Amino acid sequence: MAQNYYQKEIETMPVEDLKKLQSEKIVKQVKHVYENVAYYRNLMDEKGVKPEDIQSIDDLHKLPFISKADLRDAYPYGLLAKPLNECVRIHSTSGTTGRRVVAFYTQNDVDLWEDCCARAIVAAGCDEKDVCQVAYGYGLFTGGAGLHGGSHKVGSLTLPMSSGNTDRQIQFMMDLNATLICCTPSYAAYIGETLKEQGYKPEDIPLKAGIFGAEPWTEEMRRGIEETLGIKAYDIYGLTETSGPGVAFECCEQTGMHVNEDHFYPEIIDPDTGEVLPEGEKGELVFTALDKEAFPLLRYRTRDICVLSRKKCSCGRTLIKMAKPMGRTDDMLIIRGVNVFPSQIETVLLNEGYQPNYQIVVGRVNNTDTFDVNVEMNPEQFTDIVSDVLAMEKSLANAMKTMLGINPTVHLVAPKSIARSEGKAVRVIDTRKLV
Ligand code: ADP
Ligand code: ZN
Repeated sequence: MAQNYYQKEIETMPVEDLKKLQSEKIVKQVKHVYENVAYYRNLMDEKGVKPEDIQSIDDLHKLPFISKADLRDAYPYGLLAKPLNECVRIHSTSGTTGRRVVAFYTQNDVDLWEDCCARAIVAAGCDEKDVCQVAYGYGLFTGGAGLHGGSHKVGSLTLPMSSGNTDRQIQFMMDLNATLICCTPSYAAYIGETLKEQGYKPEDIPLKAGIFGAEPWTEEMRRGIEETLGIKAYDIYGLTETSGPGVAFECCEQTGMHVNEDHFYPEIIDPDTGEVLPEGEKGELVFTALDKEAFPLLRYRTRDICVLSRKKCSCGRTLIKMAKPMGRTDDMLIIRGVNVFPSQIETVLLNEGYQPNYQIVVGRVNNTDTFDVNVEMNPEQFTDIVSDVLAMEKSLANAMKTMLGINPTVHLVAPKSIARSEGKAVRVIDTRKLV
């Protein structure tokens, strides 16, 4: 497929030029933050770093990290770098880890963020002739606002549905010929499931592409969504702390997401030592916002685990690529001493012919962790013959044991009995009190 770009000059810029641009920006940005954010100035002073020590992007490693704990400490205004009267917007995290963070935007911040989302929409093969159904939540959550703004910038006809009310989503999608849908992958799967139940075949559905993100999803889940909806499914990544979705986006190659590194400089670090790791190594992703005015985080530790690669991409973009995040340092469950990522469970389910409708329940009895996985049967698998159910549970538990190295207790439950999410799915219930 011929690739279009939203901002070709940047998206295909030679790497040396990009580095020069990043270097110019970081020098200015560090000064801006040092002068305007007392909280970060103190961190720099403690580390003995002055703005003059940062002469190029290669000096970035000298700067202190900033973490979610800092954001909590500084709540709500402590990291603000512009007077409130120059800010036009507030967003807040969805609280995946139970702690909300608020972020501020100037008009320029909103503008650049929307450009990033526009790059994602164009990379997904869409333009002003498309009808873009935004089924991410609107409101404090960044998903709706980000893709909505991006869709406007591209000039697509924007359908600001927000999440939820699935029957209405389907009616508008069909009646108004939506060609692009943007939502969480779990909601896309649910919409697909509902369409199928209502008798729609992939070829009846006007969609041609979907841009899905805000939560981890697997390649298997991508294939499932692509098949049910008859579309190409593209990944998009971002977090409230760095604006929202659009920090990185997928192109036609669908092998990782190009980071908008003219605005967000990525590093991979060893989460234990803080040391910067070479390209290609797996570690914690850290972002430095190079242009943000109101809420400019430098070296923000995302806790997302992933890998960066500068391998040449067939789409022509030179922007570095990040692999799908493989979980977060903080959503990694440690069960009986073994690291377990919900995404591993999801991979097993999809490989074994189940839908990714599951819930992991972790508890502790007599100082031993309990590990249960509730999994929905597909309607075609559904049976009430106890011996059949037991055999299916055993076989699924074995497959999970092979993947994880520890044995869960699997409970197959009736189709549709696990609550569906219209935003981010709730995959884990951990009742252990370990502190
Ligand atoms: P939080 O979930 O931390 O409350 P956000 O709503 O800003 O705050 O979510 C950002 C987080 O969502 C990221 O740090 C990452 O863990 C996850 N995320 C976003 N996009 C993706 C994606 N495409 N794949 C995997 N995880 C993602
Ligand atoms: Zn590419």
